[in-house]
Amino acid sequence: MLKIGSHVSFSDKGLVTAAQEAISYGSSSFMIYTGAPQNTRRKPIDSLYIEEGRALMESAGIGEIVVHAPYIINLGSYKPDTFELAVRFLQEEIRRTHAIGVRNIVLHPGAYTDKDAEFGINRIAEGLNEVLSGVEETDVNIALETMAGKGTEIGRSFEEIAQIMDKVSANNRLTVCMDTCHMNDAGYDLAGDLDGVLEQFDRIVGLDKVAVVHVNDTKNPVGSGKDRHTPIGSGWLGYDAIQAIVHHEALAGRPFILETPWIGKDAKKQRPMYDAEIALLRGDGMERFGERFFDQLERLHHFLGKQEIDRRTYVLSVWETLKGDAKARKADPREPLERLYDLAREGGEFADLTEEELNKLITFWFAGKQVLVNA
Ligand code: FE
Ligand code: FE
Ligand code: ZN
Repeated sequence: MLKIGSHVSFSDKGLVTAAQEAISYGSSSFMIYTGAPQNTRRKPIDSLYIEEGRALMESAGIGEIVVHAPYIINLGSYKPDTFELAVRFLQEEIRRTHAIGVRNIVLHPGAYTDKDAEFGINRIAEGLNEVLSGVEETDVNIALETMAGKGTEIGRSFEEIAQIMDKVSANNRLTVCMDTCHMNDAGYDLAGDLDGVLEQFDRIVGLDKVAVVHVNDTKNPVGSGKDRHTPIGSGWLGYDAIQAIVHHEALAGRPFILETPWIGKDAKKQRPMYDAEIALLRGDGMERFGERFFDQLERLHHFLGKQEIDRRTYVLSVWETLKGDAKARKADPREPLERLYDLAREGGEFADLTEEELNKLITFWFAGKQVLVNA
């Protein structure tokens, strides 16, 4: 079965809270931060509801899950305090990850700040060597995440990941987390040449190293170096490309984790599209949402079809405008998903739907008419 889920909250009752949220989206996997990603305050291991959470997961058929290390950890820092804190805190995170029963902790390799990439790579490898030599009693692997190349972050090319791995002695404990948004933004054309990119990765790092895939669409074109996630289908990668990634045989068996942003007009009432994205990518929308949902989806196809709106042309042309035309962006900064939402609302035909329901339908619309045929 496809392992797919999203980032979920680990607050309150720890693994129980996380599992409950994941189950509500119909997930078969999920990812947690063991505490706030911006700080190092953590609850003691015995108050994480690990056993109760495990039982819940089992009853819902959730097996493999993933932990994400906080992004304040920077093993690339030349500053002794920052570096030492990163090493110590990552070791603690690895012990927590082990206690929760998780095999992979995803790590942003690090940033070289005022130095250069070569310094960063060496420093990160030094840090990983130190970290791993102190957690030999665990069986947790560190999954280096492929990065977008924003600022001075390392891991923006497959070569950088390979260089780090080469310099780490216990590199049997290093794996990779591919992030589709980051790879696109770093210059890998997943939408145009998926097989080519995967072959390249295999040559330089090895596909057997891939332990996790972060599934995100992106607000920016290939090579932008940006790192801005957007819901599946609403970005430059598009639904078809992401569907091909999730079902690619070279990536079979890995957990696929959504980190797409929550949406909604009112920031306080925003909610994720995870349940829709998961059902779409897994292909069980009918079981999850029922016939009425698909009747409405047909209505939406009809409505947008009448206006000759093609999903890919529309999404890409809105992003082009937002990117290339400052005046037009100022006049109307709305992104594709929100524009489609407003269009449907203005039409008056979908007045019976809540904001959440309509956004879910638009998420499904991004996948094209094929979804209607298959349902
Ligand atoms: Fe990440
Ligand atoms: Fe990611
Ligand atoms: Zn990102």
